[in-house]
Amino acid sequence: MIDRQALLDSVPKGLYIDGQWRDSSDGTTLEVDNPATGEVLATIASATPADGMAALDAAVAAQASWAKVPPRERGEILRTAYEKIVERTEEFALLMTLEMGKPLAEARGEVAYGAEFFRWFSEEAVRIHGRYSVAPNGASRLLTMKQPVGPTLMITPWNFPLAMGTRKIGPAIAAGCTMVVKPASQTPLTMLALVQLLEECGVPAGVLNVITTAHTGEVMEPIIRDPRLRKLTFTGSTQVGQRLVEQSAQGLLRLSMELGGNAPFIVFDDADIDAAVTGAMLAKMRNIGEACTAANRFLVHESVAAEFSEKFAARMAALTVGDGTKDGIDVGPLVDQKARDGVDALVQEAVAAGAKVVVGGGHAEGPGWFYQPTVLTDVPADARIAVEEIFGPVAPISTFQTEEEALTRANDTAYGLIAYAFTRDLARALRVSEALEFGMVGINQGVVSNPAAPFGGVKASGFGREGGFEGIDEYLEVKYVGIAP
Ligand code: NAP
Repeated sequence: MIDRQALLDSVPKGLYIDGQWRDSSDGTTLEVDNPATGEVLATIASATPADGMAALDAAVAAQASWAKVPPRERGEILRTAYEKIVERTEEFALLMTLEMGKPLAEARGEVAYGAEFFRWFSEEAVRIHGRYSVAPNGASRLLTMKQPVGPTLMITPWNFPLAMGTRKIGPAIAAGCTMVVKPASQTPLTMLALVQLLEECGVPAGVLNVITTAHTGEVMEPIIRDPRLRKLTFTGSTQVGQRLVEQSAQGLLRLSMELGGNAPFIVFDDADIDAAVTGAMLAKMRNIGEACTAANRFLVHESVAAEFSEKFAARMAALTVGDGTKDGIDVGPLVDQKARDGVDALVQEAVAAGAKVVVGGGHAEGPGWFYQPTVLTDVPADARIAVEEIFGPVAPISTFQTEEEALTRANDTAYGLIAYAFTRDLARALRVSEALEFGMVGINQGVVSNPAAPFGGVKASGFGREGGFEGIDEYLEVKYVGIAP
């Protein structure tokens, strides 16, 4: 049994700049709350713009020497970090549950998933290849090499406090980039604990710098506009992502944008309905519905809609809601009151427009920001809940008649992160995979995230890929050298 207070006390509360933990230059702080209870968990440093610049200075100063560290050494740091994270699974899981709310079992799942990015990229560090060829006219030799992009700013969201960090830090370390990391203000403790662990694993001073701040825009913008920064990688809302792309235009930064989603979950008439229900539970309820990959719109063939809705509603009704640190809890609180009220507004508007509540439909008992697992049927296609990212435990179901209609409706969104489809017909699976305008497609499965696969979206869900072979390329530039023989 972990001593909660001892765990919280062990997490550094300062800024980590050039290998030193320090207070913010004006001594200001910011509080981190537990969304299940409202209690203050910790008070951490709140960086000023000058602190942000000091972090960038350190990253810039460390870049040249870090790029020269042998790939094997960089890979070994990641491998050691992977092992240490796994050893400390219980500590990381509890920290995440306390600051973010997800139940402990899910937090353990995120520790395993997050750690895997370090293992994967420890293996990729030694597989950064170039090419040698003879020019078609024979007059020269063409050599290509890959080199680190350079100092990178990483901004991460609150919903996956560990994994959204490791899938950026892992490839940057493997590629030889230095970095300034800015975790979400609501869940910085996991990142601070991760940085402490990476320090133990031998990441040199200046390579990894971490800034927490209550003045996010003010501190981030000067870094983004500084010509020494070479890359910005952001995971968060589309709205903030768009603003950051504008800020990056002047410096022509390399960009990776992992933004919002509005995933369709299509159940065809030939689907295995029990498998579809299991997939739906994962795609909807993973992370309390607070995932960019969360199924947002359930499109079910009219001939199987009654069976699917009934079985799915029964599973949703059986979930237990409460403080995720307690045993037997399936669904934790939403991250804050604004999030919970936003989800409720979407539900109430849909109901006013004619949707039927099958399960849930309102707040669950507090003091935290709990919302009942909810299933709605007969949801009008133009209801706001079908257009916007819900980010909560609410499943709106509507029906379709033909495959063409399902695909048209699935693609009828500004977003393009992920789509799910359930069918036992292989030809249909291939057809719909090709027709869905999304960066990822899950066929007969409700979770596709995998460190060995390229994660990312198209359209308003952004661009760039994290994980897979593609993940490290985001941190590498290709240089071509022409050599006269
Ligand atoms: P958010 O409000 O966009 O915040 C994300 C990060 O951006 C936080 O660190 C936040 O800092 C920072 N930020 C906010 N305003 C900023 C500004 N003006 N300049 C620089 N940084 C700024 O998003 P969120 O509510 O935390 O996360 C939920 C969103 O993330 C959802 O839309 C979800 O779909 C998306 N998401 C996408 C993926 C993916 O891979 N596609 C994965 C997970 C989540 P503060 O916390 O200090 O405000």
